[in-house]
Amino acid sequence: MMTPLTAGPHRVVIVGAGFGGLETTYRLAGAPVEITVIDRRNHHLFQPLLYQVATASLATSDVAWPIRHLLRHRTDVVTLFATVSGIDASARRVLFEDGGSYPYDTLVLATGARHAYFGHDEWEPFAPGLKTLEDATTLRRRILVAFERAERESNPERRAALLTFVIVGAGPTGVELAGTIAELAQETLPPDFRNIDTRKARIVLIEAGPRVLAGFADDLSAYAQASLEKIGVEVVLGKAVTDCSADGVIYDGKKLEAKTIIWAAGVRASPAAEWLGAPHDRAGRLQVLPDLTVPGHPEIFAIGDTVTIAAWDGQPVPGIAPAAKQEGRYVAECIKARLSAEPCPPFRYKHAGSLAQIGKRLAVIDFGRIKLRGAIAWWVWGIAHIYFLIGLRHRLSVALSWLWIYARDQRAARLITQGSSKVTR
Ligand SMILES: Cc1cc2nc3c(=O)[nH]c(=O)nc-3n(C[C@H](O)[C@H](O)[C@H](O)COP(=O)(O)OP(=O)(O)OC[C@H]3O[C@@H](n4cnc5c(N)ncnc54)[C@H](O)[C@@H]3O)c2cc1C
Repeated sequence: MMTPLTAGPHRVVIVGAGFGGLETTYRLAGAPVEITVIDRRNHHLFQPLLYQVATASLATSDVAWPIRHLLRHRTDVVTLFATVSGIDASARRVLFEDGGSYPYDTLVLATGARHAYFGHDEWEPFAPGLKTLEDATTLRRRILVAFERAERESNPERRAALLTFVIVGAGPTGVELAGTIAELAQETLPPDFRNIDTRKARIVLIEAGPRVLAGFADDLSAYAQASLEKIGVEVVLGKAVTDCSADGVIYDGKKLEAKTIIWAAGVRASPAAEWLGAPHDRAGRLQVLPDLTVPGHPEIFAIGDTVTIAAWDGQPVPGIAPAAKQEGRYVAECIKARLSAEPCPPFRYKHAGSLAQIGKRLAVIDFGRIKLRGAIAWWVWGIAHIYFLIGLRHRLSVALSWLWIYARDQRAARLITQGSSKVTR
């Protein structure tokens, strides 16, 4: 442990109150340290259910909680709403975007990742990704507006383009989005429209790799693909999208006219590695040492989606919430061990399994030796997600919304916000 610069208690600064940063904060309870949590958002976001906000199944407040409220009982924690834009490692201070700086003795970087367009950032306005609450409400708006505009459109080609939804990338988020949009079009919306048959909407899921859900076992991938196709999703495999524009996408040398494109294909780490001039992989993920510290900086830990570290099988630890939480827990224990001048063993990742929902009644779960699919997997998926939500009120609210969708096909959050009918995008 580095010697504190001042005589007072050891100051731990945690940047990012996502899954990793919050877990470190929780696990440091009772330790003889002063904790400061800094986040550029005032809320912790449960990203695994963000696609349900984008597809009008859940409200924004079902999946996000004010950080200050989550830490209200922790009088040892100061919460700051600020954007970190750099680190002065020699002075041991984090630097803020709007000027000013903040001192630390130990720093934990848990700043996550954002979506990446493989060098084509110009595609973003046409093919937004899903990472923040604003992304989710923007997508919800685009999806719902497309149906509204189709209802008023008399030209058949333009109407077809409005009713074509392209999802790029068939990982869990792409699969979940495609399945839910298909159900929205097939089951929820038909009785509400008069001029269009929303069941004719095309939902096209395009993946450059050879299968959907590449992180899952082959048989679960095949099951997921067959299930998506059964609810009307067109699955295109082995084709990379080579252009996105206001009119649609190009893949396999062909243009597909589509007014709604959703990007679920690439991830880029936060700039934490750049702030420190530290080694990183191609996706910008900081390459940390086995104790999750930054090379050359034993006083700086980095965790979660912003880092890369090998797992038990030589593969990198996956960018999922349980991994970020395990790392957060490890760092808290490591800080406590160091304060007691005890050694800190290397981090060991334990993979609990992978889950993805396909539609409102189906899911796939890969626990390694145990694999589940279909309705039973959906119930396990639902219970697991409700369990990991924060607070009884949110658990009840989400469970009720899901039961309502399950039983009545009603999606309560079908609200077009961020503008009136004059705003087209
Ligand atoms: C749409 C979507 C669906 C997902 N589905 C699943 C799933 O089903 N299961 C699963 O396990 N995982 C899922 N994940 C992945 C999971 O959410 C991440 O692995 C997890 O959030 C990583 O945790 P983290 O703490 O590293 O980062 P995050 O949870 O992303 O938190 C990072 C925090 O840092 C803050 N921050 C970033 N930069 C700055 C800055 N410069 N200054 C101050 N604060 C900053 C952010 O505001 C944020 O609060 C999904 C992710 C997405 C986007």
